[in-house]
Amino acid sequence: MQFEPTPEQLLVRDMARDFARREILPVAAALDRDGRFPAEILARLAGIGMMGVNIREEYGGAQAGPVAYVMALAEIASACASTAVTMSVTNMVAEVIQQFGTEEQRRRHIPRITSGEYAAGAFGLSEPGAGSDPGSMTTTARRDGDGWILNGQKAWITSGDRAGVIVVWARTGGPGTGGLSAFLVEPGTPGFEAGRHEDKMGLRASTTVSLHFDNCRLPAGALLGEENRGFRIAMMALDGGRLGISAQALGIARAAIEETTAYAKERRQFGRPIADFQAIQWMLADCVAEWDAAWLLLLRAAWLKEQGRPFSREASMAKVYATERANAICARCFQIHGGYGYVKEYPIERHLRDVRVTTIYEGTSEVQRVVISRAVLK
Ligand SMILES: Cc1cc2nc3c(=O)[nH]c(=O)nc-3n(C[C@H](O)[C@H](O)[C@H](O)COP(=O)(O)OP(=O)(O)OC[C@H]3O[C@@H](n4cnc5c(N)ncnc54)[C@H](O)[C@@H]3O)c2cc1C
Repeated sequence: MQFEPTPEQLLVRDMARDFARREILPVAAALDRDGRFPAEILARLAGIGMMGVNIREEYGGAQAGPVAYVMALAEIASACASTAVTMSVTNMVAEVIQQFGTEEQRRRHIPRITSGEYAAGAFGLSEPGAGSDPGSMTTTARRDGDGWILNGQKAWITSGDRAGVIVVWARTGGPGTGGLSAFLVEPGTPGFEAGRHEDKMGLRASTTVSLHFDNCRLPAGALLGEENRGFRIAMMALDGGRLGISAQALGIARAAIEETTAYAKERRQFGRPIADFQAIQWMLADCVAEWDAAWLLLLRAAWLKEQGRPFSREASMAKVYATERANAICARCFQIHGGYGYVKEYPIERHLRDVRVTTIYEGTSEVQRVVISRAVLK
């Protein structure tokens, strides 16, 4: 058993850590306050290989693997969770095109993602009436000559108004999950429009929008993978995506623990630092023990992916545990801040808002438990 990261993994992590501390952390609170999409930061992140960490070098990726990827993403999330979710979805989109795209689709889109020419990539699965159950989606794509006509609406799409390419799922066949296909949609395609920004509780510097397709004509080459096999593409992409969201949650939680430890040593009540009280010590002990357990689950899932082995159950286990523990950790850290946690003077207020959604998107905790229990009962 090997617990040490490789020199290459450490290099990628350290590069992300250095960038996060130098370029993101100083502006993270302002990005959150102003709800400003960090376009310049994302372009610079691409410049250090962070938009294709697990993408082959021939497409401009860093080819550093899933373990390096989760390490890097956690570093970015510890500074700014909004930047991290944009990075996570963009990497997921690059990977899905690498895995399922034709050579032409790969060459057209992946280098533009990895180089930062595209501000982001987006993943268009959810709809107003189809969240946990994508098999009930109503967006349709019908054949028209050698192309496709897309009609319908997507909801909650991260970076949907900023992305250079969006993977959009639509119904091409019968009901249920067996009739879905994936398409690559580019902004500016007639009949496609992104809707207004959701006014979110957290992740305020990431954009979340609806997408509208009104007789939107796509060329034949927009189909990603095989017709009516799109559900499998979505599920495989989400397995990898769940590693990213686990890393995002744990990056936020790590920042909360570090900041709270410093706060507890500094803040004095009853004539001594609050860190002297056993109640505070035990809360911090639970935080670091849970964080470590979650991180190890995540590393195992990422390692399995790196080995090319099945990792779906392990990704769901990592996601449900990491995101729920990250929420509990941030809540405890908030408690340790007392009233000062409730105002924007300390970052814990932002962390608590940002971490909340991690048990919801890319499959809720309940959906992860469905995946895990199905594997157990199989
Ligand atoms: C900030 C943000 C960003 C997002 N980004 C994207 C994106 O980029 N692309 C994208 O496609 N989607 C995105 N989403 C959508 C997200 O993935 C969905 O919100 C999520 O899958 C849940 O769907 P829903 O909100 O419709 O909830 P529902 O599916 O309506 O669920 C409501 C509740 O019922 C529970 N539930 C549902 N089914 C079951 C079941 N079978 N067993 C037990 N409990 C169940 C859920 O766990 C939840 O508690 C984003 C969402 C948010 C909030």
